Amino acid sequence: MPGFEVFGDEERKQVNDVLESGILMRYGFDGMRNGHWKAREFETAFAERMQSNHCQLVSSGTSALTVALASAGIGAGDEVIMPTFTFVASFESIMMLGAVPVLVDIDDTLTMDPKAVEAAITPRTRCIMPVHMCGSMADLGALKEICSKYNLLLLEDACQALGGTYEGKPLGSYGDMGCFSFDFVKTITCGEGGAVISNFDHYITNADQYQDHGHDHVGNDRGAETHPHLGYNFRISELNAAVGLAQLSKLDDILAIQKKHYDIMREALDGVTGVTFRRVPETGEENYSFLNFFMPDEATAQIAHSALTEAGIDGCFYWYTNNWHYINGWEHLRDLKSLGTLPSEITEQIQDLNDTDFSQSDHWMSRTISCLVKIGWTEEEVRARAEKMKEALSGR
Ligand SMILES: *Cc1c(COP(=O)(O)O)cnc(C)c1O
Repeated sequence: MPGFEVFGDEERKQVNDVLESGILMRYGFDGMRNGHWKAREFETAFAERMQSNHCQLVSSGTSALTVALASAGIGAGDEVIMPTFTFVASFESIMMLGAVPVLVDIDDTLTMDPKAVEAAITPRTRCIMPVHMCGSMADLGALKEICSKYNLLLLEDACQALGGTYEGKPLGSYGDMGCFSFDFVKTITCGEGGAVISNFDHYITNADQYQDHGHDHVGNDRGAETHPHLGYNFRISELNAAVGLAQLSKLDDILAIQKKHYDIMREALDGVTGVTFRRVPETGEENYSFLNFFMPDEATAQIAHSALTEAGIDGCFYWYTNNWHYINGWEHLRDLKSLGTLPSEITEQIQDLNDTDFSQSDHWMSRTISCLVKIGWTEEEVRARAEKMKEALSGR
């Protein structure tokens, strides 16, 4: 998964372009920047790679989600449906706007179950936010149908699945908007950074303004610009964008290596008693950043995870109890522990998350193990690793 494994001269050269002029900001200072517009260049290149009309870079994946929601006019009291298995950014970005996260069960895709989504819709629902966890996607076709039927926004969190596809389209480009993270452990990294993509002009115009204090970005006198609406500062810096530009040129190589390593590991585990693989929706192709599999039940999954750890296989996760990507780990959300008073829309409308039945999610998560696919391994190392995994899981 991590682009940081291939950090090198290309990144240093891009950053040096910016350091030589000293213009670290993405806007203005036209005469002093030696023609370098790294953020703009990255946006054009990323939109093209993602087969989307537009890209807006921002400061993180979390801010990308907030900016996307804000750009669609989502605000206080609006409900956004999200899965129980995800990164905490999902509910953070929703609650930042006073909107209300509505958590629904996942299925054997390890992403939101379309049936659970439809059952959670109320007159206040505005958006469905699937999260393509650990390299593979939600059932986007089914979710799109639900969105059309109820007139809802489909916002894809593709932060963990950059480069995967569905119906031949890059993940993130299938819904109304898609969000990406370029934090330090993602498929490509800027250090810190994120992106929103969309084919809709009005969302990206709103995003462009919202992420920069509402500036309309018309003309070339920043001080004289008007502000069509309130905004915030979620800007990316030129230094971060410069790193991202170099990383983007390495994306297809990263994906090819991930797939090669994934295939070797998957082949080794195929046929091991008790091991089954996560379902990938029809027409979908993973980005191969993780190999995800199920054990028959919670007890065997616990034993398998310990066996992998004991065999020295690092980077295998048992999310159900050992991590904070599942609702079990979100005590601060379940108990609404906030530094200040939360908007009343949230406190009045939110589910009692300590007392909601997520047994369907528990069923899948308690059996799931996800193993990271690294790109720095040699083929020999991957084969040795795959063999060790097979032995550990076979109980030998
Ligand atoms: C990493 C991640 C984010 C947030 O990205 P940051 O850049 O770290 O803020 C959001 N959603 C998912 C699924 C992620 O993995």
